[in-house]
Amino acid sequence: TEAPPVPVRREPPQVVRPLLGRAGNSIVVGGIAGPAADGSDIPTIDPATGEVLARIAAGSCFDVERAVASASRAFPSWRSLKPAARGRILADLADLIERNAEELAVLETLDNGKPLTESQYLDVAMVAEVWRYFAGWCTKVAGETLPVSPPVGESFVYTRREPLGVIGAIVPWNFPLLIGSWKLAPALAAGNTVVLKPSELTSLSALRLVELALEAGLPPGVLNLVTGYGTEAGQALIDHPGVAKVSFTGSTATGRRIVTASAASLKKLTLELGGKSANIVFPDADLAAAAQGALTGIFLNQGQVCCAGSRLFVHRDVADDLIAELSVAAGAIQLGHGLADDTDMGPLISAAQLERVQGYVTSGVEQGADLVCGGDRPGGEFADGFFLRPTVFSNVGDHMTIAREEIFGPVLSVLTFTDEDEVVRRANRSEYGLAAGLWTNDVKRAHRVAHALEAGTVWVNMYNMLDPVAPFGGYKASGYGRDLGAESLLGYTQTKAVWIGLD
Ligand code: NAD
Repeated sequence: TEAPPVPVRREPPQVVRPLLGRAGNSIVVGGIAGPAADGSDIPTIDPATGEVLARIAAGSCFDVERAVASASRAFPSWRSLKPAARGRILADLADLIERNAEELAVLETLDNGKPLTESQYLDVAMVAEVWRYFAGWCTKVAGETLPVSPPVGESFVYTRREPLGVIGAIVPWNFPLLIGSWKLAPALAAGNTVVLKPSELTSLSALRLVELALEAGLPPGVLNLVTGYGTEAGQALIDHPGVAKVSFTGSTATGRRIVTASAASLKKLTLELGGKSANIVFPDADLAAAAQGALTGIFLNQGQVCCAGSRLFVHRDVADDLIAELSVAAGAIQLGHGLADDTDMGPLISAAQLERVQGYVTSGVEQGADLVCGGDRPGGEFADGFFLRPTVFSNVGDHMTIAREEIFGPVLSVLTFTDEDEVVRRANRSEYGLAAGLWTNDVKRAHRVAHALEAGTVWVNMYNMLDPVAPFGGYKASGYGRDLGAESLLGYTQTKAVWIGLD
C-alpha cells in the first residue's frame, strides 16, 4: 500500500524560542552559562525535518576540567547541608519542572522527535516524580548499628552512608531529560555534586533543567553541564582523576570502552546498556491486551527504547491471529512531526540511526524472515526527516541477526514457540538481560516464568512500565548497578564502619 503522507511541519513554538537562542551557551559551570572554551559548537537537528534547531557548545577536556573543579569546590558545603534543606531544593525543582512542563516537553519533542503526548505524559511527568521521590530520600540516607564480638573488650560499630564526591553522568538521546534525572536526583540527594554530559544529539532539555535547578536554589557548582561529543567531553570525564564515579547509560559498545578506560583510576561505574528483550505471549493470555502490549513494547519512542520488547515470542496456536492483528494496528500508526496533533510515531533520531535500522530490515529479508508490514520510508512533505514505517517480521529464526542484535528502531521480530521450557530457554539465549514481558492468565506460570527469565525487569500482563520506586537495570551485557529505587541511591554512597570501644 502507498505510504500515507506525514503532517505539515511547524515552526518551533514561542515557548522554546528563548532557550533555542541560548543554546550556544550550554556549558554551565559554577552556575554561569557560556560557550565551549575553544568556541566550537555542534548543530542540533530536528529529526522530523533534518533542519538545524540550534547550535550547542562542543565542550572539550578544558571545559570538563573547569566543571570538575567547580563540582569539587561545591562538594564540602553541599554534603554538609542539612538533609532536609537538600530535600527542599530537590522538591522545589520537581515543582518547577511541573510549572515548566510544556516548554520541557516541546524541547524534548523537537530535539528527539517523539510525539508531544509521550514527552508530556511519559518523560516530563515522570521526571517531576523522580525528583520528588529522591527529595524524600535526602532525610533517609542512614547507616546501621551493628552488634560485634571483638576478642577483647566491649565495642559496637555503626555505619555511615557517605557521598562519593563528584559524579560524572553520561546520558543517551532516547530519554534525555528522564534518564538524566534518574542519575542526577539520587546523586544529589545522597550529597554528591555532578557534571552532566548529555548526548550531543539532544542537549537542549538538559540546559533548561540546569537553569531550573539554579532557580530552585541549588547552589552554583553543585550541578554542572558540559555538552559535547562522547569521544571528547565524555572521554574527558571518564579520564578525570577528580571524578569518583561515572553513571552511564548508552550502548554496550560504549559501556565496554568506559570499563577499559576507567581501569587505571578504578572509577566506580553504573552501566545501563543495551537490550534485546523477550516479550512472551502464552496461549491462555488476553490476546487483545497482549497485542496492545506488543505494539507499545516495540513502537514507543520509535522503538528507541533500551527495554523494547523487540523479540516477540508467540505460542504457535495463537500466532496467526496475533500477527494479523499486529499488522493491521502497525499499518494504522500515523507517522509525523511530534508536534502535530495526529502523530502516533515520530522519526528516528538521526540519518545514521535510520541507515543502521534500514540495514537490519535488509538483513531480515535476506536471511529469510517474512516482512509482514513496514520496512520502508514514507514519502510526502517529510522526506527530509528520518522516518521509517513501523515494521513487523514473522517467521524469524533465533539465529537471524534481527533476533540477536539490538536494532533500536521500530522493528519487531515475531518468533513462535510450543512449550514453556523451550521459550524460557530461547528467551534467555541472549547476551543481554535488561527486561522481559510475559502474557498469561495462569498465576503459577506467571511467577514461574518471571523467576526463570534472566532480566533485570519482568513485566507480567503489561510492558514498558516504570516507576521511581522500582529499580531498573540489566543482567549480563545489559550492564550493572541500578537506576531508580533505593538501590540507585545507595550506588551514590560509600559505607564507612566506625568502631567505638567501650572499655
Ligand atoms: P552511545 O553509547 O552512543 O552514547 C551514550 C552517551 O555516551 C552519549 O552522551 C555519548 O556522547 C557518550 N559517549 C559516546 N562515546 C563515549 C566515550 N568514548 N566516552 C564517554 N562517553 C561517550 O548510546 P546512544 O546511541 O546515545 O544510546 C543508545 C543506546 O543506549 C542503546 O544501546 C540503548 O539500549 C542504550 N540505553 C540503555 C538504557 C538502559 O537503561 N539500559 C536506557 C536508554 C538507552
